[in-house]
Amino acid sequence: MEKPLSPSNGHKAPLCACEPTPEEMPLSEREAAIAHHFREIMNLLGLDLEDPSLRDTPYRVAKMYLRELFLGLDPANEPEVRTFPNTYQYKQMVVEKDIRVRSVCEHHFVPIIGVAHVAYIPTDKVVGLSKLNRVVDYFARRPQVQERLTTQIAAFLEEKLGTPHVAVIVDAKHYCVAMRGIQDEASRTLTYEFRGRFQEAETRDVFLRMVGL
Ligand SMILES: [Zn+2]
Repeated sequence: MEKPLSPSNGHKAPLCACEPTPEEMPLSEREAAIAHHFREIMNLLGLDLEDPSLRDTPYRVAKMYLRELFLGLDPANEPEVRTFPNTYQYKQMVVEKDIRVRSVCEHHFVPIIGVAHVAYIPTDKVVGLSKLNRVVDYFARRPQVQERLTTQIAAFLEEKLGTPHVAVIVDAKHYCVAMRGIQDEASRTLTYEFRGRFQEAETRDVFLRMVGL
């Protein structure tokens, strides 16, 4: 069974038994190691690493991977989802739509760019709205497939918000479809996870109308 909350998508095995796991290496060491390997890739592509424009690219890529694109692999970056008692007894759905999604396809390491629409119906807890954006961002910032991204967001919110009524839609363009293979720039991929009352047509339809689908 897949563990939806696994911070690193389950890819935790070290390269060989003699090497420390990535979690055991300080950030600067991991950066240096990634830069070293990326330099080899550039060498194999026949690029001139002495060129002033290319010289620092391996380090730039390593920094970008660890500090930006893949920061969601580090559990230390999990957003703190502080909730508040639902003292005003709000019983309807809360919808946060058009949340920016910037991820990377784990099959090809090219961008996945799109939006997510997230909704929940509170029971006794409500959450600061921007936390919903942060949760989407945390799970997006790692090598991903869109199906898993969708279920990871839903499972996390269900647990943290203490409500079974959670809905997530992800609508994204995959650059592995746009730039290679079939090279279809127009198509997008939609995935969804409807839990609790969002499995009922009436509730789901309200959500879909609110996000314009
Ligand atoms: Zn891909």
